[in-house]
Amino acid sequence: MANFKKTIQYIRQVFNEPEAFIPLHAPVFSGNEKKYLNECIDTTFVSSVGKFVDQFETKIAIYTGSTKAVACVNGTNALHLALVLSGVEQNHEVITQPLTFIATANAISYCGAKPVFVDVDKETMGLSPDALRAFLNEHCEIINNNCINKTTGNTIKACVPMHTFGHPCRIDEIKTICEQFHIALIEDAAESLGSYYKSKHTGTFAPIGILSFNGNKTITTGGGGMLLFNDEALATRAKHLSTQAKTSHPWAFLHDEIGYNYRMPNINAAIGLAQLEKLNEIIKAKRKLAHKYAAFFTDNKIDYFVEPKDAQSNYWLNCLVLKNKEERDSFLEETNKKGVMTRPVWELINRLPMFQNCMCGDLSNTEWLADRVVNIPSSSLL
Ligand SMILES: *Cc1c(COP(=O)(O)O)cnc(C)c1O
Repeated sequence: MANFKKTIQYIRQVFNEPEAFIPLHAPVFSGNEKKYLNECIDTTFVSSVGKFVDQFETKIAIYTGSTKAVACVNGTNALHLALVLSGVEQNHEVITQPLTFIATANAISYCGAKPVFVDVDKETMGLSPDALRAFLNEHCEIINNNCINKTTGNTIKACVPMHTFGHPCRIDEIKTICEQFHIALIEDAAESLGSYYKSKHTGTFAPIGILSFNGNKTITTGGGGMLLFNDEALATRAKHLSTQAKTSHPWAFLHDEIGYNYRMPNINAAIGLAQLEKLNEIIKAKRKLAHKYAAFFTDNKIDYFVEPKDAQSNYWLNCLVLKNKEERDSFLEETNKKGVMTRPVWELINRLPMFQNCMCGDLSNTEWLADRVVNIPSSSLL
């Protein structure tokens, strides 16, 4: 069995932390966070109205190259709204990957829809266009421009690929397949702010993409999310739904449909705006760390996960691919015992009790990765 003493020493050296606990990912507040927060309090604009929300949305749209961005309370409800806007309803099915954070599958469930799990690529850890095509060809037929699952009789309404740990999946091929099969595409780019596929920002290939600004993500707003659009009218509709579907009127409270209270508060946007000013520096630091890791692990014959072909990754969480489950478990045991935080990937969603009866394609790559991949400390060293 491999001895990971050298790896632990190296991680401690890189983070310049000889003894203290090293977390997986810590946020850094080195800019205007306090200044903007004070401004919220001084002006009393702390809640659902305020200039920071608008500014944060505008700057995220510019950064990602989206036409419009709409801020939400968190990434999970941004996903929920994206599914609602894509027409996902009761008894629909939504294809996603089983190797993702639970939020992806939960948001599908909020619509009364069921997830269908399709395999990932070993090279990206994100939804595999080959597996998607194979699944659709085998199990689905197109009737009146609807994609019908022949086994269940239900409509496959949408597909939600995820850019795992910040590494872009083959999103352009997935987009072509979804268009061919009349399936709405939503990009879960919660982990991939600052990641590009073929020089285009992740989350902007599909009609709707989402980001998360939870505390462990590349930049944080405390809690927060964002919807990305290339269609102005759809963005306007998203904002309407996220603000209790209130119609604009000088004094009356008029709501024209059932909406949601999903609007990001101004204090969260204030933090986000300050964080965004540092994003380029943060990504640069994260990529520098990734290069150091790559060199060290290559020298030590440990398989370090490198950004996929045609992609530029934010390296949100760095990954090792260990030899097998036994080696993975001894790595997790040894590192965590020594105060260096490491984690396996999420328990596969198709194995969780509430999603156990969902339909699955062949999941060999997913299962192979789940036994071997670990995340190692990845905070940006500014
Ligand atoms: C973080 C994350 C989300 C959203 O999470 P929130 O905590 O609600 O912001 C969604 N999907 C994935 C894959 C994530 O990692």
